[in-house]
Amino acid sequence: MHPPETYERAVRLRESGVSLARIADQLGLPRGTVAHWIYGSRARHMALLRAKQPVRVCAGCTRDPGDLDDPRAYAYLLGQYLGDGHLVTSARVPVLRVYCANAYPDIIEECRQAMLRVFARSVSIVPRAGCVGVQSYSTHWPHLFPQHGPGPKHRRPISLVNWQQAVVAEQPRALLRGLIHADGCRCINRVTTRGKQYAYPRYLFANESVDILGICGAALDRIGARWRFNRRNSISVATRADVALLDEFIGPKT
Ligand SMILES: [Zn+2]
Repeated sequence: MHPPETYERAVRLRESGVSLARIADQLGLPRGTVAHWIYGSRARHMALLRAKQPVRVCAGCTRDPGDLDDPRAYAYLLGQYLGDGHLVTSARVPVLRVYCANAYPDIIEECRQAMLRVFARSVSIVPRAGCVGVQSYSTHWPHLFPQHGPGPKHRRPISLVNWQQAVVAEQPRALLRGLIHADGCRCINRVTTRGKQYAYPRYLFANESVDILGICGAALDRIGARWRFNRRNSISVATRADVALLDEFIGPKT
């Protein structure tokens, strides 16, 4: 019997679009086991459990979720959550978890700080394969991230509720920083034109959810950064002035 963390990690990788073969390699599991988890009776059983269980939220919560101490920290955390986070509501107490790559210790710390500023009393850093889960338990998280629901984000509509739209309209830079930290990069693009090589920095944001791509595009519009889809599931900001604009508040990941 594999620990639930391994199962959860496999499901999570699959949700991010990783192939079964690569998941099996990464977790050191037989491919058949991974296939069973993703497509077999266990997947159906878990989906059923998730659908049946009522989400545990703070009873009689009278907090106005939009009344935030630190809207900038919230917008950043929302970006991280939309990009690479999830809210597990099947546990006894809901847990907000954001995956951050080991390669970027500053981002891990920024994510931890954001959780503390938004609501968390304590945040734990849980090591995974090649990354960590930055996580915090609270019955109030579902009120702060009402986008939670069964299945991966790209298979269900993701829309921001009114108070979130207001926060994002006020803090588009923090949202973009969170989104890029989670699912994007500032990388060097190399192109050859008429035999001459050019290299220039650009920002990319990749996500399988059309809605989340739309949220990213709207925030870029709001700050006046030009962008385009360089692939079906990826947004690119590549002109010099627009890269410079994003450099003012994002920069390379560290
Ligand atoms: Zn609450």
